[in-house]
Amino acid sequence: MKFSLKTHSIDGFSYFPRLVHAFSPRSFERENGLHEELSLGRKSDSRSSAQHRQWLLENLNIDSKELFFVKQVHGDRVFVLDDPQKSADQVEREEADALITHLTEKPIAVLTADCVPVILYDPEKHVAGAIHAGRKGTQKSIVSKTISMLSKAYGSNPQDVVMALGPAIGGCCYEVDEPCVEPFRQNYRGWEGFVTANSRSRFMLDLLKANAMDAERAGISKENIHRSGECTSCNNDRWFSYRREGTTGRIVSLAMLRKEPIKQ
Ligand SMILES: [Zn+2]
Repeated sequence: MKFSLKTHSIDGFSYFPRLVHAFSPRSFERENGLHEELSLGRKSDSRSSAQHRQWLLENLNIDSKELFFVKQVHGDRVFVLDDPQKSADQVEREEADALITHLTEKPIAVLTADCVPVILYDPEKHVAGAIHAGRKGTQKSIVSKTISMLSKAYGSNPQDVVMALGPAIGGCCYEVDEPCVEPFRQNYRGWEGFVTANSRSRFMLDLLKANAMDAERAGISKENIHRSGECTSCNNDRWFSYRREGTTGRIVSLAMLRKEPIKQ
């Protein structure tokens, strides 16, 4: 390979020989030592480079030529990818913010830059999910809704499900106004645990904590919740941050079920 692309993975997820998971970094290194930004996204996105998508897949030893994204709309719909005939183009037209699948060798993915990317995996049923949990999706409890869908569609027991929270804006950097906090106060039990008033009469919102809370309420064990520990805003050199930059690229967070365990 003529470049170096180091994707981020989460230690707690490395025990599963039939799961591929990855979070794409901001840039990769060319053979000549120069760093170049990754332009990843849906095929329909003009900024997205087919070459970069291909490199990402090759780098992870994924045979699929396609990444399966949904059309993210800050809602709470979970798309179930259960039809092996469905093309990536068709899936991209589905308005949803989470997708789950039992299909092997099909990388499902979400795009984020500050919002929380979540990967779920049930090693017992061998099914996976990818979630885009922004402020609105978090308010709508998209994580617990996705866990419910794993149970409904595939018979998952939440006790078996492991969860990875990828690089996202942390409670250290995500400052919001009162109107952003209000829906949590109204409808979200335990909101005091992740909303903190600051000295500027604004609020620090910890979406990672909120989503972990949501997952625990849906039956995921605390010890099965893993975090990348990366704040996109603090570590803007490594990750895209919409808040920090405005127009910027996107992190791809993907999960793929392998048919056979990888031979070491
Ligand atoms: Zn931060």
